[in-house]
Amino acid sequence: MKTTITSSPEEAAAYIRRGELAVFPTETVYGLGADALNPEAVQAIFQAKGRPSDNPLIVHLADRSGLGAVAATISPAAEDLLEAFTPGPLTLVLPRASALSDRVTAGLDTVGVRIPSLPIARAFLRACETPVAAPSANRSGRPSPTTWRAAYEDLVGRVPCILQGGRTDAGIESTVVDVTTETPAVLRPGAVSMEALRDVVPTIREVDEAPEIPRSPGTKHRHYAPEAELVIVEDPGEADAAAIHGYIGIDEPAVPAAFANVFVAPSIEAYGRELFHFLRECDALGCRRIFAQEVPEEGLGRALMDRLRRAA
Ligand code: AMP
Ligand code: MG
Repeated sequence: MKTTITSSPEEAAAYIRRGELAVFPTETVYGLGADALNPEAVQAIFQAKGRPSDNPLIVHLADRSGLGAVAATISPAAEDLLEAFTPGPLTLVLPRASALSDRVTAGLDTVGVRIPSLPIARAFLRACETPVAAPSANRSGRPSPTTWRAAYEDLVGRVPCILQGGRTDAGIESTVVDVTTETPAVLRPGAVSMEALRDVVPTIREVDEAPEIPRSPGTKHRHYAPEAELVIVEDPGEADAAAIHGYIGIDEPAVPAAFANVFVAPSIEAYGRELFHFLRECDALGCRRIFAQEVPEEGLGRALMDRLRRAA
């Protein structure tokens, strides 16, 4: 299959309208989209990614006007969260509408919905004229793509179109919040922090990792894994400085030049933005080990530590 790279949202959207796949940028990571109302198109996502079929997809909308086509009801808490955080990196799990393909929801009676804020993503979604189901645009088990080149690396020859945008801003996926239960629950930490969510819905709770029956099926699969072994360290001094090792963190190691690849982040936000790109770079360099410095579990640090643990 030929992979066309375009910077035109309309050209990429034409693929979706024809029932084909298109990769597109968002403010979190790049997504691999298909018409959420077309079961064959949605099925092609799972094939292109090698994604397990029991892992539901997030449905992306240009704006709130499309919500009625995918969600059956919107609770008052959902309204408050939509008002406060959308468009933006928040996914709400809502009772699903019947028009949606079962493949999108992996047979669940709920649907994850997100309205991205990145202007090119919104232009693309508007031009699609249909809800767009999209997971991250990586091969299953690889780090999420934060550049179009990373998506290209994973999906060239497997998708017909990539909408070219810049490096993604958050670099970490959306926060997934279940609003179908009495008390809203964070199923996956992400780019919207727990603290910010609590300001709007004070009762919001965190769901335990690895429950008996995962509420968010995607969280049970191996994720975000570089080929190198990832080791979480408290202090850069614990990182074994060697030419076949990488290091990423907030504090600088004693001899940065001793590593194959080093990224010292000026902030937690910059750490998050760089992480997946850094993991891919280390793999390309053939690193054996990547040392990643721990950060406090607050703000974006919570999502960052979640991704580091999954990669480790
Ligand atoms: P990805 O798009 O690859 O980052 O994965 C989407 C994440 O959202 C996965 O962890 C899914 O399990 C989760 N998700 C999507 N739809 C639902 C849903 N209806 N209920 C619970 N979690 C969902
Ligand atoms: Mg993913």
